[in-house]
Amino acid sequence: MVNINALLFDLDGVLVSTETNHYLAWKAIAQELGVPFTEHDNESLKGISRADSLKKILGKGGLTISNEEFDRLMTKKNNYYLASIAEINQSKLLPGVKELLILAKERRIKMAVGSSSKNAKFILEKLNIQQYFDAVIDGNDVQIPKPNPEVFLKGASALNSLPIECIVFEDAQSGVEAALAGNFNVIGVGNPALKNVVTHYLNDLTEFSIDNYAQLIRN
Ligand SMILES: [Mg+2]
Repeated sequence: MVNINALLFDLDGVLVSTETNHYLAWKAIAQELGVPFTEHDNESLKGISRADSLKKILGKGGLTISNEEFDRLMTKKNNYYLASIAEINQSKLLPGVKELLILAKERRIKMAVGSSSKNAKFILEKLNIQQYFDAVIDGNDVQIPKPNPEVFLKGASALNSLPIECIVFEDAQSGVEAALAGNFNVIGVGNPALKNVVTHYLNDLTEFSIDNYAQLIRN
């Protein structure tokens, strides 16, 4: 029997939702490029890096741009996004998050964030929950983004845990694939499309019981 001793959280869509902020920022960039961009298009950007997101939008418009223009649009998107999340606070935490962080900390369960976002540390500070995490691995720390398992492997390593001793909470397909590729236990959260992909699915973290977690994973 494997002992679960660590929880690894994706940030966006698991701990907090800034999807609307991302969507509106990408929509402004797409508009500038003359590419139609809907909430449905935005779905395919969830959990992937900023560069890959821009490539998808360019691909949708059949556009090729210079490296300089690419970098300019990446920066512009991030500036739109940062301006819109500057006022974010704990009221934006998703249901069950604060309670789980407090309880897990009490039980001395190690916790880390594993996010593709380069803004993860900024957002955690805005939410004032950074003190719960023993490690934060974000887009600045990884060479290869999800679905590569690097972000979670680095998280587990920072916690001195093996992947099989960790539970990864993810809301995106790319993140679930990353966790599975790294041999982690994974729980899909808050994205009904994952129900077909994961063994364990929660609508939100209020449904996660620490007392049952080992049993939950073994079943
Ligand atoms: Mg996510």
